[in-house]
Amino acid sequence: MFFHVILTSECNLQCKYCFGESLEDFDEAFGDDIEVDYNLPKNVSYEIPQLEKFCRQDPDCVLTFYGGEPLLQAEKLRQIMDEVVPKHFMIQTNGLLLDKLEPKYTNRFHTILVSIDGEEALTDYYRGKGTFRKVIDNLKLIRQNGFEGELIARMTVMEQTDIQKQVHWLLDNREFSFSSIHWQLNAGFWGNDYQRRNFEEWTQTSYVPGVRALARFWVDEMQLKGTVLKLYPLLGIAESFLNDEKDCLMRCGGGWINYAIQTDGNIIPCPTMWGMKKYYLGHVATANPLALKKIFVSEKPCVKCQILSICGGRCLYTNITRRWSDEAYSKVCYTVAQLVESVKAEMPRIEELIRNGKIKLGDFDYLKYNGCEIIP
Ligand code: SF4
Ligand code: SF4
Repeated sequence: MFFHVILTSECNLQCKYCFGESLEDFDEAFGDDIEVDYNLPKNVSYEIPQLEKFCRQDPDCVLTFYGGEPLLQAEKLRQIMDEVVPKHFMIQTNGLLLDKLEPKYTNRFHTILVSIDGEEALTDYYRGKGTFRKVIDNLKLIRQNGFEGELIARMTVMEQTDIQKQVHWLLDNREFSFSSIHWQLNAGFWGNDYQRRNFEEWTQTSYVPGVRALARFWVDEMQLKGTVLKLYPLLGIAESFLNDEKDCLMRCGGGWINYAIQTDGNIIPCPTMWGMKKYYLGHVATANPLALKKIFVSEKPCVKCQILSICGGRCLYTNITRRWSDEAYSKVCYTVAQLVESVKAEMPRIEELIRNGKIKLGDFDYLKYNGCEIIP
């Protein structure tokens, strides 16, 4: 099982799609049936031996440090890494404080997911001036200091993002190129942003054409270089087609294999469901990690969807909270359908390249539920 360990709710950035949106959306409630505890402790309040005992019950326990910004609680993180023995440690971070963690800890991460949205101007536009430079300098430093694990660029994308241009930039720039990239749409998280945004036009004129071009480019790279780049949305979908995977469940793992542990020790289906009392699934002090209740998407809009078996429902949080109207959310589902079609259209070429030995089926393997949601 995978568990996000939420070390703190505090963050040292004020990103447009997170802090900025929360300012515009502050009066939005979730509806009567979802009561949210807004008084959770900012930092971990349970005992680390409780986490150790919990994790020990599952030989495949993977712990991913998460926040807010988890490195604001570096001392707690060190304590956990000293006292708990999971199969892997991972971290999802904004990268600003990576230089403060000693290599003896950094180098033990199986995977580091770092938030970066593309080139400097775009990253700083979304995440604040100077963010890009500090993050890139820190990534160079951790590589110099011996970090050999997977480093995933985690992009949040919305209307200011040209997905094709920015993914190419992350892959190709001379200063620090990533071989693993995941992107996630800022869509369906907030209650009243759809009306003031230009989401539909952007998806039709920029995002979807960009995804199609990236799918073609991705397979061109296989053909030219024999390399299967870890562009996660494309990789995860192609891997499912290649292995004839039927009936995918929520592909981020939220609610069934990838849970989150709140700062107070309560276990929730995914970190974004922070404080939603109705979905508390047990406490780290007493729960069995292998017997947690599973939560699946409710009927609308997914159960009758023709691509549920490959999409998996996209996001449990948005399915439960339904913050965008059905009409608005259908624009998100359009992007999912187009993404799936873009990969499907390339499958004959991919299968031919595997038959010819240019690439191998194993090149599509990845650690599932590693924090990349696959369906953006
Ligand atoms: S495309 Fe939309 S409706 Fe279909 S399964 Fe995915 S999230 Fe649900
Ligand atoms: S995709 Fe949705 S359910 Fe999955 S981790 Fe992200 S917010 Fe949670």
